[in-house]
Amino acid sequence: MPPRRSEGSHCDRRQFLAGTAAAAALTVLQGLQPARAQGTVGSAGVPDSRLLEDLVAANRILAKHGIVDAYGHVSARHDKAADRFLLSRSLAPELVTADDLVEYDLDANPINLAGRSQYSERYIHAEIYRARPDVQAVVHDHSPSVIPFGVSSVPMRPVYHMAGFIGAGLPVFEIRDVAGMTDMLVSDAMRGRGLARALGQSTAVLMRGHGVAVVGATIPFAVARSIYLEVNARIQLEAIGLGGEVRYLDPEEAKKVLESGENRGYERPWELWKRDALKDM
Ligand SMILES: [Zn+2]
Repeated sequence: MPPRRSEGSHCDRRQFLAGTAAAAALTVLQGLQPARAQGTVGSAGVPDSRLLEDLVAANRILAKHGIVDAYGHVSARHDKAADRFLLSRSLAPELVTADDLVEYDLDANPINLAGRSQYSERYIHAEIYRARPDVQAVVHDHSPSVIPFGVSSVPMRPVYHMAGFIGAGLPVFEIRDVAGMTDMLVSDAMRGRGLARALGQSTAVLMRGHGVAVVGATIPFAVARSIYLEVNARIQLEAIGLGGEVRYLDPEEAKKVLESGENRGYERPWELWKRDALKDM
């Protein structure tokens, strides 16, 4: 008979997880502490264990919701330095653990890569963090129902309250405008800057023929917006398919959703999603 998991062991496990994350980060960051004041490129320090745990959870949550598959990634700004962020080494998000997280500067240079391979589109994250001091987390994905709105003249608009963050609509990044004919990847700083410019002050930017970049003031905001953006896209496609006139949220209604705390900061789904995402670790 399998041993029953008591409430106590659940708590112990949570502490263990947080401890494991911090220990893993320490291992990765050990020996990378030359003072930044000396002008050398060194680590900003060990990130908060809760931040590491949330970023690992974010990777797995997005995978479980089909927002990312083997491609796509999520990052968080470093809690000890605004000019650093944390992003996994090149790895399918569902497999990411704390010791896969790499610290980057805002030129997308890795601080502690240790020979591991990197995501070619890390410039998406670097240039958005540089352009948007308010952003603490960035998701890049190829969310399938969102793609049509990046290639069609029909704009994505909010069809229900959970997607009020879409506001009056989302900008579309046209990579040809900044780099001509490409392989469609935002794999250098120039393309990243073009994407960040297109994002402007929006919550997300569609990428024509590619996917989307979504931002948030916390990891739960960026993750939840990515999930509800996909849901909104599906519902909008269904509403358009009905053939009548579609009545979207008015920009004033969307603004009120944000002003009232945007779905209570997604605290309720985050608690649920995070528990589910980490229970198999
Ligand atoms: Zn991509």
